[in-house]
Amino acid sequence: MEQEIHITLRYNLTTGNANLNEIVYRLKELRDPLVLRILEEILKSYDDLIAQRLSRTDIYPSKKRKGLGRHTRKDDTDGRPCRGRKARKRGYRKKPRKISTVFGNLNVPIREVECCKCGARYCPLLSALKIGFYARTEMNFEHEVIESVIDTNYRRLIDGRSIDISLGGIHNIVVGSDIDETFQESVSATDLSGIMADGTGVKQQKGRKGELRAVIGITKAGRVEPLGSFSNTTWPEIEQTIKKRIKEAEPYNIPFIYDGEPGLDDFMADVAESQRCTWHGPRGLYHALWEDGLKKKESRPETDKIKQLIGIELPENDFELLKEEDKEQVKIRYESSKTEIKELIKTFQEKGYKHGASYLEKLSDRIFTNIELWLETGVIAPKTTSLLERLFREIGRRLKKIAWGWSDKAVTNISKMIMIRQYSRDKWEKYWKHKLGIKGYFHIKIASVTGSCRTF
Ligand SMILES: [Zn+2]
Repeated sequence: MEQEIHITLRYNLTTGNANLNEIVYRLKELRDPLVLRILEEILKSYDDLIAQRLSRTDIYPSKKRKGLGRHTRKDDTDGRPCRGRKARKRGYRKKPRKISTVFGNLNVPIREVECCKCGARYCPLLSALKIGFYARTEMNFEHEVIESVIDTNYRRLIDGRSIDISLGGIHNIVVGSDIDETFQESVSATDLSGIMADGTGVKQQKGRKGELRAVIGITKAGRVEPLGSFSNTTWPEIEQTIKKRIKEAEPYNIPFIYDGEPGLDDFMADVAESQRCTWHGPRGLYHALWEDGLKKKESRPETDKIKQLIGIELPENDFELLKEEDKEQVKIRYESSKTEIKELIKTFQEKGYKHGASYLEKLSDRIFTNIELWLETGVIAPKTTSLLERLFREIGRRLKKIAWGWSDKAVTNISKMIMIRQYSRDKWEKYWKHKLGIKGYFHIKIASVTGSCRTF
């Protein structure tokens, strides 16, 4: 049904003095309030159209009332629905409904009708708008709130608009999100080239120190697949959750990389092969040699050597695809450092550095498994947890700025959102489009814009 809205704008300009910048500046100021007024008109007219169909049963067949006028029977304590679809208009509610929208705060007058069958009074517009009976915000608004938290741009959200939302209001939007129930589709282990996990401390409610933990997968195509984000959850619990998302039940040797976080030694042991971040190699060796009685000065040449030997396989990026032409070179360097490390282990054994030798053995096992995997699959698995470190830094910055003192649920949700938006942008966009329910039931275009005083 085609409707029209007529807009009259009045302006004054000081001829010869008004410049383009000033005109654009004022129009920009007008944009949100103008669209807000248009929205208000559309809603009023929508309300009228609905009321018309419900009251004029002589004109509109029941087919035209499909989906309209749902309400519960009057005085029915069990809340059973009434089948009556004929109603009388009963004026407007005393208080208009306030809804925060992306253009600012909206006040919609809400019409009441009375059911001709049961006598119940209800507001048919609210259910047609699908905003829920107590909703105070619309979804585009929530989308923008969340995007602004992720961009740490809270001020830009509210500045210059009639939007008013407190930090507490933002918290409630984040807590109320269904992000927790979505993005649970299973992941195939054979698609993954690595799994990483790490944790970081966060300040939460009443200065309480919390622990935020995240697990991500790296696919063979080199993409990040967020697997989960948790606050104040034990590693075994996290493991259970992640395992449920991974399809294969049989063991599959995905390299598992972590940053020496306690409690992670056996994490995902039946699916993944654990692999400490190689950055710890030199430090770990120093420690092992210290146990063998070597002073720092004495172990220094050995740790430096290890740094060099494992340095060959540290890619510049966190993960990347290994080019065919580079494979041969990697292979040569891999063979030579493998030989050198083996020799070093032998030397250690001869010198009686028991701890040093066994540490190096374990370390080289892990490192070389990883290189062998690259050579085999062509995908360089992430070597360091810097990807996660960066993620945590990003989350931390937002928690400090906006989410200060948030609850567990909110911290979990926002970190999940950050992960998904940063690393699975397409899934993030799809999620919102689905939530907004854009299905082609409303179209609007500018019919004409004319000036009134072109008399010259
Ligand atoms: Zn009724």
